[in-house]
Amino acid sequence: MIVLASFFVVCAAHAENWPSRLIKATIPFGAGSATDVVPRLVFDRLAPELGQPIVVENRAGAGGTLGTALVAKADPDGYSVLAHSFALTIALGLRYLGVLLMGALIIVPAAAAKGLARNLTGMLYMAAGIAATRDKLHKLIRVWTLGNGVGFGRYPWSEGVWEGGHSVVTLDDKERFCGCGGRGHMEGIMGHRAMRLRFLDMEPEEVFEAAKTGDQRCLDFKRLWHKALAAASATTIHMAGPGKIFLSGFNVRFLDMPMLKDYLQQMVKMSPLQSYSLEIVEDTPEVRVIGAAVSAEQAAGR
Ligand SMILES: [Zn+2]
Repeated sequence: MIVLASFFVVCAAHAENWPSRLIKATIPFGAGSATDVVPRLVFDRLAPELGQPIVVENRAGAGGTLGTALVAKADPDGYSVLAHSFALTIALGLRYLGVLLMGALIIVPAAAAKGLARNLTGMLYMAAGIAATRDKLHKLIRVWTLGNGVGFGRYPWSEGVWEGGHSVVTLDDKERFCGCGGRGHMEGIMGHRAMRLRFLDMEPEEVFEAAKTGDQRCLDFKRLWHKALAAASATTIHMAGPGKIFLSGFNVRFLDMPMLKDYLQQMVKMSPLQSYSLEIVEDTPEVRVIGAAVSAEQAAGR
């Protein structure tokens, strides 16, 4: 929460003489919910900093869209602010949006929101956050998040869909565990959900444990899992060039770095592309929030 105020100032710096009067904040969820409590705490801190009161109103209904629509229809003057959940809703026509991201509120010019909305899972923020916190804003950053699904984020922002987790990594018709229904996808092999579907009798952690003790089925899967990650990474290296590839998410614990590097080495043979490197990074709310602020700044400048 402490970092929040400074982000607020950074993002709001685009506004001249704002705010000069009371700000009305709408929370599109009921009082007392998690999506209500956190923004209220934030507003309590922001109001004295801004020198203007912030009046909070709960307008629950229709899964948050009711309150959001109300804000969207308000005058686009920066005095109607929406505090939404992590999956932000873009209220077109607003000049400013309050985006509640990973428990922190970020106020962004609406022009920036378009850029922010590119990746609702926040992978874009994460990549930008890694770039910012490591002084690599001038470099290409890619990050895989190995969790229930497989997320892919890249920095700098670039036009595109970037559904990297659905990279096709095998031509095996039997590889159909991806939640999207597509065949041969990386997520269908590496996603936590997909692993549980594949091994109905074992949890993913048991599979990797058994692989250590030489269980053939589990060892084969461990190899497939690493090949999938290597294949998708090799593809992005071939398409976008070498550079740093970060790995995060709760399933990086299954990573056998030497095995991954070995497969990747076999897949990327062109010498100008071999300057890639791999690093495990922690996925923290702070990194994503910083990334969101960076993305907002850059989107506003586009
Ligand atoms: Zn898929």
